[in-house]
Formats: sequence, C-alpha cells, structure tokens
Amino acid sequence: MKVRFLGTSSAIPTGSRGLPAILIKTMDDSILLDCGEGTQRQMIKAGESLMKIRNVIITHLHGDHFFGLLPLIQTLGILRKNSELHIIGPSGLEGIIGEIEYIMGSKHQFKTSFTEIETKRIYKLNKFILEFFPVDHAGFETYGVKIREKEKPGRFNPEKADELEVPPILRGILQRGFSVKLPNGKIVKPQEVMGPPRKGPIIVYSSDTRPVESVVSKAKGVDMLIHEATYLHDLRDRAMATGHSTALEAGEVANAANVKKLILTHFSARYKEEDLVKFKKEASNIFKGEIVIAKDFLTISL
Ligand SMILES: [Zn+2]
Ligand SMILES: [Zn+2]
Repeated sequence: MKVRFLGTSSAIPTGSRGLPAILIKTMDDSILLDCGEGTQRQMIKAGESLMKIRNVIITHLHGDHFFGLLPLIQTLGILRKNSELHIIGPSGLEGIIGEIEYIMGSKHQFKTSFTEIETKRIYKLNKFILEFFPVDHAGFETYGVKIREKEKPGRFNPEKADELEVPPILRGILQRGFSVKLPNGKIVKPQEVMGPPRKGPIIVYSSDTRPVESVVSKAKGVDMLIHEATYLHDLRDRAMATGHSTALEAGEVANAANVKKLILTHFSARYKEEDLVKFKKEASNIFKGEIVIAKDFLTISL
C-alpha cells in the first residue's frame, strides 16, 4: 500500500501546499481521501492517473475537503472514463453535485455511484475495508475513517513446490489460490505451497477534529495515524473555537492509541515552511514513536 499526500494545507492553499487530498493505492485499487480544490492538478503534477481513481471519500462538506470533486468529475467525463467512480460521503454530497450539474445543464456521461457514510457499517471495496466514525469538528458533520488493506495471500514456498514435484507452469495457478492436478494425477492445494495469509496495513485518518476518543479507539496500535494539526499549541483557544487540533494534541492522541507512526497534516496557511519543524517538536514531547510532517507529494509505503 502506498499513501501519497497531494494537499497538506488547511482552508487556504499556499505556494507549496494544496488543499486536503491523500491518495491511497495498491496494485489494483485506489482511494482518493478528500478532494480539495486543485486536487486534479496535484495528481497530474504527481504523475498519478486521474482515470485510475476508483473511489473518492469526502469526510465532510467543508470546501477545502471537497471543492475539487466536481472539476475532477468533469475532467473524467471529458477523458471518457470507462470504469465506475464510487463516491462515499456525507448525505448532502450527492445532492450538491446533482444541483450544480442541473444548473450547468450538463450531466457527467460516465458511471458514478454514491454511498452515504454510515458509522455502523463495514464497507468492503475491491482491496480495502473501511470503517467510518464521527469526530468532533465544532458540531459540523465530519467523519474519520479507518482503512485496512485486505489480507494478501501468503508467500509462495518454491522448495515445497519442488518437493511436491509441481511443474513451473502450474505454480502461478496455486499462487492465485486454485488447486492444481499434477501429471501424476495428484491434487495439490494452495495451502500446501503457500505461507499463511499476510495481514494488510491499517491507516486511520482523523479528518478535521478536536482530539477525540473515537480516533483513539479506532487507531489503537495501527500502522499509521494521519492526524490533523492545524495549529501549534499557543493557539489552542483558536483550535478549540474552530474544531481543530494542535500538534501537541495530535501527539496526545497518537500516544493514547499507541500507533506505530504519526503523520501530521492540515497546517494553517499562517505558518511558514520553516515553522513546521515546531509541529514535530511539539508532538514529540508527548508521542515517542515516529512522527512525519506531511508535505505535498510525500509518498509513504506500508
Ligand atoms: Zn479542513
Ligand atoms: Zn473542516
């Protein structure tokens, strides 16, 4: 699984940071997590194919998290996307897209499906399993999300295959999970030559929120917590008033959840690039694991 940050500012873009968007991809599935204004240009700059986006998740209907969606849909229509685009978001999102397209008098000409976010539901995509949970964003309907890559098949054991006299031509079939019949008539099952299934990595994305118990409980022990840190702690009052977190508070959440890695993102545009090292320092006063300051086009492999 690769996690690629496409926009790491909050509310207002800066010269070096776009608005929130994170691309999560495996070999044959992908999720665009939030889609702030300018996301399609960020994808093009990053060398990522717009046509390959399969799922878009919008965590809440603040402009910095979804104003890039309609332009993306328009571009995909022009490029004649031939696979379906699946959009998962809060209940009002489908109506907003429909209303704007109605006013414009142009409906997109490729297949989209819309699923409303529900917190008591497990969403099974092609290669991902999703769970949404409410967060605390000044009373505005906002969801965090837990993303788990589905189990991958175990490793192939060539010595075992040699021992069982499996011809090379049949080995790929076993690796794909099917039994094979050998020339001597013997049946070999995949589990005889494959190791145990490997668990996929797990990510939790907080979206915009105050530090909140729902993030702590969903992020327990996960491989990566992507937590917003809009402000440094001297602006805690501002963070409380606007439903955001400080770097120190993000560190407290990561520490309470005992995550393996903390990624800080969604920085207020008031901070200069050279200020961002202070976010890491502040969070590291509390969280002793690995902390990364996200920047646009940063890619992390899990
Ligand atoms: Zn935001
Ligand atoms: Zn917001």
